Amino acid sequence: MNKSIGAKLIHVKGLVQGVGFRPFIYRLAHEQQLHGWVENRNDGVVIKIEGANSNIDQFVESIRHKAPAASNIFSIKIINTELKNHTSFQIIKSKNTSDEITDICPDIAVCEACLKDMKEQKHRIDYPFINCTNCGPRFTIIKDLPYDRDKTTMDPFRMCNTCQSEYNDILDRRFHAQPIACNSCGPEYELIHGDRNIRNLNEIIDITCDLLEEGKIIAIKGMGGFHLACDAQNEDTVKRLRISKNRDGKPFAVMFPDINTLKQFIVTNQNEEKSLISWKRPILILKNKPEGPKLANDVSVGFNTTGAMLPYMPIHYMLFSKLNLPVIVLTSGNISDEPIIIDNQEAIDRLSNITDAILIHNRDIYNRTDDSVELAINNKERMIRRSRGFVPDPIYLNLEVDGIFAAGAELVNCFCIGKKNQAIMSQHIGDLKNLETLDFYSESIERFKKLYRVRPWIFAHDLHPDYLSTLYAKSQTGLKISIQHHHAHIASCMAEHGLDEKIIGISFDGVGYGIDDHIWGGEFFVCDLTNFERYTHFEYVPMPGGDKATKEPWRMAVSYLYKTFGKDFLNMDIPSLTQIDNTDIETVMRALELKINTPLTSSAGRLFDAVSALTGLCNHSNFHAEAPMRLESVIDSTVDKLYAYDINETISFDKTIIQIVQDLGKGIYPSIISAKFHNTIINIIFAIANKIRKDTGLNKVVLSGGTFQNRYILGTSENLLKKNGFNVFTQSRIPSNDGGIALGQLAITAKRKSLGLI
Ligand code: ZN
Ligand code: ZN
Ligand code: FE
Repeated sequence: MNKSIGAKLIHVKGLVQGVGFRPFIYRLAHEQQLHGWVENRNDGVVIKIEGANSNIDQFVESIRHKAPAASNIFSIKIINTELKNHTSFQIIKSKNTSDEITDICPDIAVCEACLKDMKEQKHRIDYPFINCTNCGPRFTIIKDLPYDRDKTTMDPFRMCNTCQSEYNDILDRRFHAQPIACNSCGPEYELIHGDRNIRNLNEIIDITCDLLEEGKIIAIKGMGGFHLACDAQNEDTVKRLRISKNRDGKPFAVMFPDINTLKQFIVTNQNEEKSLISWKRPILILKNKPEGPKLANDVSVGFNTTGAMLPYMPIHYMLFSKLNLPVIVLTSGNISDEPIIIDNQEAIDRLSNITDAILIHNRDIYNRTDDSVELAINNKERMIRRSRGFVPDPIYLNLEVDGIFAAGAELVNCFCIGKKNQAIMSQHIGDLKNLETLDFYSESIERFKKLYRVRPWIFAHDLHPDYLSTLYAKSQTGLKISIQHHHAHIASCMAEHGLDEKIIGISFDGVGYGIDDHIWGGEFFVCDLTNFERYTHFEYVPMPGGDKATKEPWRMAVSYLYKTFGKDFLNMDIPSLTQIDNTDIETVMRALELKINTPLTSSAGRLFDAVSALTGLCNHSNFHAEAPMRLESVIDSTVDKLYAYDINETISFDKTIIQIVQDLGKGIYPSIISAKFHNTIINIIFAIANKIRKDTGLNKVVLSGGTFQNRYILGTSENLLKKNGFNVFTQSRIPSNDGGIALGQLAITAKRKSLGLI
């Protein structure tokens, strides 16, 4: 046998299905003059390859470095095999039943090659639904597996002959591109403006641009749902949009036409730019350029950051090519906290009165998917909202999770289902506080069960008895496992990093039900995936008015003041309290005295609320975590001083509050008070981590919970702990907020099950 000829079996694991991977392999084999075959298997693809060894080496090199953008190779295993003298290279039909296939690709931003085709390819000139095997919608249009056109919302569109021949041609970039379409056979846009229905695309673009430039609000159907769009520099329009969206006080995301325009407004580093232009096209929360052009104040409701993204659908590019605006608001098309609207008729019914025109199209959105939101801290991406571009990529665990469903928490809910060793997180569902979101939740669960062919029989849920997710889990037939909220936060981070051992777990957030029926949220654990021991926590304080305190941070200020000074604080000089009605303060005081509706909490979020209110930054909160975010946004990072505190059985902030009030009396700026307060929290994290290390010998620290979305807290404490020899684990791909809870619930349940504890 010729020595330089070889035969190999190559097993590629990871997300390699529905992303044009097999045609890619086919073309590579042709390039290298190799023979054999490629086949889809349940856990990836297997390639049999024969030919010159040097070509095989080249071939493997190219798999590693030239794979389609959306594929995600987990591992490549190569073994020698028998030479069979194949005479060609073939894609062989999958022997596996469709139930075994689990990989579904997330939606992919339109690729450069397609943008080029839009200008050159005769049948796709300016075609706004152009896509190929490397780009286009996936998860949002898929109804069932295997991923074939008739199982997607492209089913009603019959391919024309040209599309069909491209679809069948393995050397074409659109070979087996399920959403393939062109100007003569694919979906179309339609602009509803007054009593006109405009179908001519040029006219649609012109009118839409005119309206946006005139300060009008337009609803635009996107990839995973409707957006509301308007001029992001027009104060009146953005204000009008904010009022129209009702109750929703959150910052709006904006879209820039390209990275250079974005950089005129915003500070970015190389890593952030890489994320912005990646095929996932997330919204990235970035710092505004102080000397740059300004966005309307209502876009970011006074914050010095902006949630920014770049175009990801052909229509975005087309609009910007004509639009005389450097930036537009592009926020979820919904009212209040309801799920983003996906249906044309619903958009017409519900968004007409708040918009001046509605741009719809006739490619149905099956799986509702919001834009994903990320933040970079210490040069690492931190997921805030995991949806478009990321879902439903699985998280691979070292645990068998088959049969387990994890319900998640209440706010920013995502659920999670287990399949073999894969945790499959749902898209961002939202706050499970209204019927519409609950419907979206249960509908999505049914769809995931069908799509992934799973029938869960173990239902993990939060310990909180009233969460709708808990009630959902409890209504199912099977085993119910309740999991403490902060244990789930820590386990979520552990699962992300494949940790399965005893560690130091630090979990800070706003609310989580504790095993003593109090509200936890400033927690130090010694824990593993099975169990936790509460090492220490922030001292309990009453939350006057219960849930009302989360909306009115001044109540927490009064609670901390009352705890520290008794009634004497009323005679102190605390300017921010003068903004609150005296009778309201007295009512809260009475409630505290009589212990009426004043549940106890160790919440970090509520402590941040109190300090934010004390410094006059936020007495009333318009959206979740507004008060801590305002406090963070003013930090003077040149300040390295901190406040006093006590560590006894729990961590007491009496001295902190005394010193803050002293600073307030001296007229010290909120920026300095905020910095000192944040430094105090970081110092506590460090002190307790050291204490636990000394006590237990443990050196791995896991940080999770919504508070760790605070750039300053996470960034500084991660560095400080690392500098002192700790092995620190923080969340990146999975949110550290309650959107990541389900993964933790799943991991804990799987671990307990593996030990026979369930
Ligand atoms: Zn493409
Ligand atoms: Zn066509
Ligand atoms: Fe939480």
